[in-house]
Amino acid sequence: MTTYREFHRRSIEDKEGFWAEQAKLVHWERPPVKVLDYRRPPFARWFVGGETNLCYNALDRHLGARGDQKALVYISTETGEEKSFSYRELHLEVQRAAAMMRSLGVGKGDRVVVYMPMIPEAAFVILACARIGAIHSVVFGGFAAASLAARIDDARPKLMVTADGGSRMGKVVTYKALVDESIRLAKHPPGKVVIFRRGLDPSMKTVARRDLDYAELRANHMNAQVPLTWLESNEPSYILYTSGTTGRPKGVQRDVGGYAVALAASMKHIYCGGAGETMFTTSDIGWVVGHSYIIYGPLIAGMTTVLYEGVPIRPDAGIWWKIVQDHKVNVMFSAPTAIRVLKKHDPAFLRKYDLGSLKHLFLAGEPLDEPTHAWIAEALGKPVIDHYWQTETGWAILSSVPGVEKTPIKLGSPSFPAYGYDLKLLREADAAEAATGEKAVVAIAPPLPPGCMSTVWGDDERFVKTYFGTFRNKQVYSTFDWGIRDADGYYFILGRTDDVINVAGHRLGTREIEEAVNMHSNIAECAVVGVADSLKGQMPLAFAVAKDATRLNSAEGRKALEREVMETVDKQLGAIGRPKAIHFVTLLPKTRSGKTLRRSIQALAEGRDPGDLTTIEDPAALEQIRNALST
Ligand code: ATP
Ligand code: MG
Repeated sequence: MTTYREFHRRSIEDKEGFWAEQAKLVHWERPPVKVLDYRRPPFARWFVGGETNLCYNALDRHLGARGDQKALVYISTETGEEKSFSYRELHLEVQRAAAMMRSLGVGKGDRVVVYMPMIPEAAFVILACARIGAIHSVVFGGFAAASLAARIDDARPKLMVTADGGSRMGKVVTYKALVDESIRLAKHPPGKVVIFRRGLDPSMKTVARRDLDYAELRANHMNAQVPLTWLESNEPSYILYTSGTTGRPKGVQRDVGGYAVALAASMKHIYCGGAGETMFTTSDIGWVVGHSYIIYGPLIAGMTTVLYEGVPIRPDAGIWWKIVQDHKVNVMFSAPTAIRVLKKHDPAFLRKYDLGSLKHLFLAGEPLDEPTHAWIAEALGKPVIDHYWQTETGWAILSSVPGVEKTPIKLGSPSFPAYGYDLKLLREADAAEAATGEKAVVAIAPPLPPGCMSTVWGDDERFVKTYFGTFRNKQVYSTFDWGIRDADGYYFILGRTDDVINVAGHRLGTREIEEAVNMHSNIAECAVVGVADSLKGQMPLAFAVAKDATRLNSAEGRKALEREVMETVDKQLGAIGRPKAIHFVTLLPKTRSGKTLRRSIQALAEGRDPGDLTTIEDPAALEQIRNALST
């Protein structure tokens, strides 16, 4: 892999030269005067003095060459709707939305909180904000009123945009009612709320003078032409709160120019997505993956992006592959948690459709265990690329970079540091660099590359303290994840630094044990947590979902499977990692973004309060953990 190694080396040793070249991938209304300003570490300012606009790069720039090409394909298996918008049509809708917001007094620097389901109007509003220099803060539709209120109070929006409702698994979720509740709880509520009515909540109530109707406003601006607001590269484009898996969410602030360049470069080098091709990212617009790779990335690249409202198994587990076939998807991006769901279904669903157009499947969000990686790669017959990133970085930190060199994939590994990232594995105790095969903290030597967060919204001090304060003697960005690097230079992520179990002085990552449990052929997925143990300090405890649950119907069957799984762990990891017990459940508690709520499981196992559960996908999962623990 000399080609990629060289590419990466240059990105670190000649940062300004490397990124000046990448910056040519986007339009600059006024070119940058300096590529990098790093006079105030750890704050990095990229493409200083350059002026650009994300909406221009995503839409206007393509109108000449591809005005009639599809820009956005909307598919809802919830409502049965399917619609597409050409670049010209999308441009028009975005102008209408922009004019509508301007008529409500929204301008440059004003915040707009978007709390919307996966519908095209969400994309219109997001791109319209970018057009007029307003700062969007999209909040994932799964968050409860209190979580939304906390985000409102932090972002202090002038305007909120929502819909009457969303739909999940055929059940209506009343977005607007939740917005009302959050505004009641908020100290700094917005003056106006715009509602897109889908007719999903007929009992929706409105508040006079505050609530406005999207369709009515739109009708006033059918021929709107809203000029672009050119922004200096380092002005904020958006705020996005982290998932909150590990605590109080942080308002990740992103810039304009660095983000545009990082996305354009990643579309070319990582995703191999070219103009005229199609990308299908199965995430939600409320998550960073949705921002970068449902909306901005593919549009900046001149691709068609698929916006899918629905779940991967309705009407059946073949729906995604049908979309790939029908829309000739070239690049697909999903999450391990979704693949584990599909793994419980017949792989024949994958073979039923023509997947000839598909080049790669990318996955991110959680550790991708080896058996799941092997299963999906085999079922698809395509390269499946695990890549690792965070809300904070906006794009991949570790990835295979097939646009530069097609390096072999190792199962369970997100390959190598992406170009631009000066990645370090540092020992927790003294920040010294770890040896090959030694578990250490994944850290990034600043400056962070373009696209990464510029600060915590309204709180520079929290940015420095939280992310750069892990090591006393070294100012480096901590990811708060454990990793190792093997002799070939491949990285493996072993879980979060606060997910470590200390068994009789041996430190084990929950991920390592989970990997071992997953090696048993009848385990679909599992969660391992450490629980206090008077003898050993801590002991691992496993909660597992079986693929074939018939054996679990009898107590003997359960015991036998538990024993087998323990033997598998002994073989894979050694008896030191053997869980104290393995509880079988049919569902694991996860956030709506698919992250296992290990902290809550651990709290329950130790008889403590499970904490903030507003992002939980299905509360029944926690009930199962409770029941399993009490038997
Ligand atoms: P918070 O920071 O608020 O607690 P969060 O960390 O869950 O929330 P995200 O930014 O959505 O918020 O998630 C990033 C984390 O997800 C990473 O730090 C890592 O733990 C995990 N992750 C993402 N991709 C991968 C991957 N490919 N392999 C392993 N872990 C991954
Ligand atoms: Mg995090």
